[in-house]
Amino acid sequence: MSGRVTVFGSVNLDLIAHVRHLPNPGETVTGGSFLSAPGGKGANQALAAARAGANTALLGAVGSDTFAEQALPLLKEAGVDLAGLLRLETPTGTALILVEQSGENLIAVASGANYALSLGALDGFKPSSGTVLLSQLEMDLAVTAVVLARAKAAGAMVMLNLAPFRSEAADFLSEADVLLLNQGEAQALAPCLGLTAQSENHLCASISEATGSDVVITLGAMGLVAQIDGCPFALPSVEVTAIDTVGAGDAFCGFLAAHVARHGRVDEAGLRLAAAAGALTCTRQGAQTAIPTRLEVMALLG
Ligand code: ADP
Repeated sequence: MSGRVTVFGSVNLDLIAHVRHLPNPGETVTGGSFLSAPGGKGANQALAAARAGANTALLGAVGSDTFAEQALPLLKEAGVDLAGLLRLETPTGTALILVEQSGENLIAVASGANYALSLGALDGFKPSSGTVLLSQLEMDLAVTAVVLARAKAAGAMVMLNLAPFRSEAADFLSEADVLLLNQGEAQALAPCLGLTAQSENHLCASISEATGSDVVITLGAMGLVAQIDGCPFALPSVEVTAIDTVGAGDAFCGFLAAHVARHGRVDEAGLRLAAAAGALTCTRQGAQTAIPTRLEVMALLG
């Protein structure tokens, strides 16, 4: 493998207000505090792959606005290749996030440039064999399906994180060599494949059989189960004191993609590395700021 990861995915600016309680429809809650942070699953996972040491490119779109400038600094700092990140006249994707004291939240995403990116704009996308193409479900799904198909036809290794879950994705799962899901996404996918409710262990094997892909289901603090080359595998999580689990899945996907880019396949070492990256992310606040470096993950694994 070339060691190169291309992420096709979203870039958002997260606008976060911490409030005493979440407002009901029509209600205004004052006295909150505000912060903004770079986000979007595509950007988070590209950053994780770069911090894991992979030569990483991000393919996607932002607006020609100041939000784009605020969304990109950590990607630039990590050396992510942004030549394939188009500047459109549509606003940069924005996630409006309200968090109340209990930790409960409300999120609305204005997808903006992420959804405005058309196939025509991707004519220059020439995937090459021996690279890893990693994507999620935060872009237009018709465009995502074509990007995945082009990458697969070119001989790239295609990894698809089914987050946030959208049932229409069931139509193009066969383009993926590796499916990455959390517990909720796996349970939501099951009926789309005609599968009945079952434990994650069995679900992993059933999804793999139905799609022909390797499957990894992450289980938060419970670790993960996987079905690789037809063989079941389970791994407990690394024990940490979790203070904020935002971004754990993104760190996991980015680190696993970087490992696959180097070694050509999902294997136990890659799953251990990705799980440790997810665990470390839970020990820090935020999404992109919490994603660890390869050195930090190696230190945790001893
Ligand atoms: P998502 O963020 O997509 O919901 P998960 O919560 O399943 O994904 O987390 C992804 C991975 O991160 C898990 O498989 C696990 O290895 C690690 N992880 C998540 N939460 C914890 C936790 N509380 N303690 C240790 N590791 C965790």
